[in-house]
Amino acid sequence: MNFYVAHISPLQRARVHKGACPQCLEGQGQEPLPKNAKGRTEWSKSFATAGEARAYMMKTFARYKSLGMCPACNP
Ligand SMILES: [Zn+2]
Repeated sequence: MNFYVAHISPLQRARVHKGACPQCLEGQGQEPLPKNAKGRTEWSKSFATAGEARAYMMKTFARYKSLGMCPACNP
């Protein structure tokens, strides 16, 4: 199992996902947002554990308004 961080800069939002999450698809997926001014989802490299992904998210996207774990896949 790999874990990834989805980050959407214009929304200042980041989420940790399991690679198997339908929204993640091993870092290839995209949350259901239009590719317009709201921005598109970008993905981090893979992490071996949810804890590592979370630590990366907290450090790298500390300035974002919304950080958390994906409620769909519950990493
Ligand atoms: Zn997810």
